[in-house]
Amino acid sequence: MKQHEERGSAAELLELLKGEFAPRQLLSTPAELENYDRDASELRIQPQVVVKARGREDVQKLMRLANRHRFPVIPRGAGTGLAGGCLAPHGGVILALAEMNRILSIDEKNLIAEVEPGVITQHLKDAARLKGLYYPPDPAGLDQSTIGGNAATNAGGPACVKYGTTRDYILALEVVLPDGEVIRTGVQTRKGVVGYDLTHLMVGSEGTLGIITSLTLKLIPHPAAIAGMAVIFPDMGGATRAVSEIMSRGYLPCAIEFMDHQCLDLVRNELPFATSGQDAMLLMESDGPSSQVASDMEALGDICREMGAKHLLPAAGEKERARLWDVRRMVSLRIHDTAGLYIPEDVVVPLSRIADLVASLPALERKYGLKIFAFGHAGDGNIHLNITAEGKEFADRAEAGVVEVLRLVLAMGGTISGEHGVGLAKRPYLTMELSSASIRLQQGIKKIFDPNDILNPGKIFP
Ligand SMILES: Cc1cc2nc3c(=O)[nH]c(=O)nc-3n(C[C@H](O)[C@H](O)[C@H](O)COP(=O)(O)OP(=O)(O)OC[C@H]3O[C@@H](n4cnc5c(N)ncnc54)[C@H](O)[C@@H]3O)c2cc1C
Repeated sequence: MKQHEERGSAAELLELLKGEFAPRQLLSTPAELENYDRDASELRIQPQVVVKARGREDVQKLMRLANRHRFPVIPRGAGTGLAGGCLAPHGGVILALAEMNRILSIDEKNLIAEVEPGVITQHLKDAARLKGLYYPPDPAGLDQSTIGGNAATNAGGPACVKYGTTRDYILALEVVLPDGEVIRTGVQTRKGVVGYDLTHLMVGSEGTLGIITSLTLKLIPHPAAIAGMAVIFPDMGGATRAVSEIMSRGYLPCAIEFMDHQCLDLVRNELPFATSGQDAMLLMESDGPSSQVASDMEALGDICREMGAKHLLPAAGEKERARLWDVRRMVSLRIHDTAGLYIPEDVVVPLSRIADLVASLPALERKYGLKIFAFGHAGDGNIHLNITAEGKEFADRAEAGVVEVLRLVLAMGGTISGEHGVGLAKRPYLTMELSSASIRLQQGIKKIFDPNDILNPGKIFP
C-alpha cells in the first residue's frame, strides 16, 4: 500500500490483516463498524477496519505491519473521548483495546496496581476498594472509560481538586512504539528519576506517541469517611466566589462541582430540592477521618452562607450522595440530547477569575445567539462550557462564539483544555495557546517516536 495520504481501500487493508489476525478480531462490515465512527464529541468519521487486540503481541504485530505498508493505526479505548481522538480521519485501522481488560494485580503491601489498558475506570476503583485502597481519578464517564484512554488523555474529574489527575497515579507504563518495539517506562517504586520522564510524556499524548499496553498505578489508603453537600446560591456570582474563597482559606474538599441555572433547568425534575430563577449550585464533598470531615463540612457551609447561599442540603449517606452525583453526571447528556448543535469546551481559568468568566457568558450568548451551559470542576477552575445552538445551520456563529470564549480564557491566564485534550476538535485552536517554537519542538518529538506518521496521524497539530 502507498503512503496513507493516498490510502488503500478497506478491502486491500483487510486482506493484509487476514494474514495476521483471527477472523473474530477483524471488524469490517457496516454493522460491525457501527459506533466506531464516533466518540462523545459531535464528530463522525466512517472507519475502514477495526482490529480487536487480545494482548501486547497483537499490538506489536499490527504496528510492524502498519510500518511496512504505511497505513494509520488509531488506538481506541471506550470511545468516550470528547475531542475526536480515537477517530480515523485518514482511514487505516482502529485498534480496539477494550478487550485487554484484566486487572493483573493489586499489591496491598506496596500500594500499586498492574492493569491492562482496557480496564474500565470504575472496575479498578471497585477492586482497589475491596482491599481498602483508593484509586482517586474519577472522570465523570468512569463507568465506561478505560484506564488506557484516561492515561492517554490525562483524564481529570471531580476528585482532581484534592488528588490530582490520572498522571499523578501512573508510576510506569508498558508501551508499544509505532515501529512495534516495546519499552517499559518509569518505575515500580514510589519515586524514581533515572533518565527523561517518558512515562509522563506518554500520559496526555493522546495516542500519538505509543500504545499503552500495561500500566502500573499508584494507590492510596481509602479515606475513612466522606460526606457531601449541595448548596444553592441565588446567582452564579455567589457560587463562583464561594469556590475561590473556600480554596484561598486553605480548605481542600475532594470535590467542588458547579452548575449554572441553565444546567439546573435541565435536571430540575431529578433534584431533591426546588430551585428557581438564576439559582446556581455547588456540589461539595470532603473526605478523611470522620471528625475532620464533619468540621470541614461545617466550615464550608459557613463560607457558603457568608457568600449568600440560599439553601444547604447535606448528603452524608451513600444513597444521598449517589443521587446528587447521578444528577451531576446527567447534565452533559441532557445538554447533548436537547441541543441541535453542541460544542463541549473544557477551559480552565485561575480560581480568582471563575466569577469573571461566568459573568461574561450572558453577553456572549446574546452577541452570537447561543446558549452556553456552564458546569464542572469549579475547584480546579475547570469550567465545562457547552456551547449550543438550535441547529447545525448556526455552526458559523457558534464557531465565532467559541473563538471569543477561548480568547477570553487565555487573556485571563487560562488554558483552552483542562482534560479533554486536543484531538481533532481543538486542533484548529492550538496556535491560540502554543507558540510556533513550542509546536515545532512537539512535532519534532512526534517525529522521533513515529517517523512514518503511522500512529494516530492528524491529531493535535494543525
Ligand atoms: C459523560 C462523560 C463525562 C466525561 N467526564 C470527563 C471528566 O470528568 N474528565 C475527563 O477528563 N474526561 C471526561 N470525559 C471524557 C472521556 O471520558 C475521557 O477523555 C476518557 O479518558 C476517555 O477514555 P476512553 O477509554 O473512552 O478513550 P477513547 O475515547 O477511546 O480515546 C481517547 C484518546 O486516547 C487514545 N487512547 C485510548 N486508549 C489508548 C491506549 N491504550 N494507548 C494509547 N492511546 C490510547 C485514543 O487514541 C484517543 O486519542 C467524559 C466523557 C463523557 C462521555
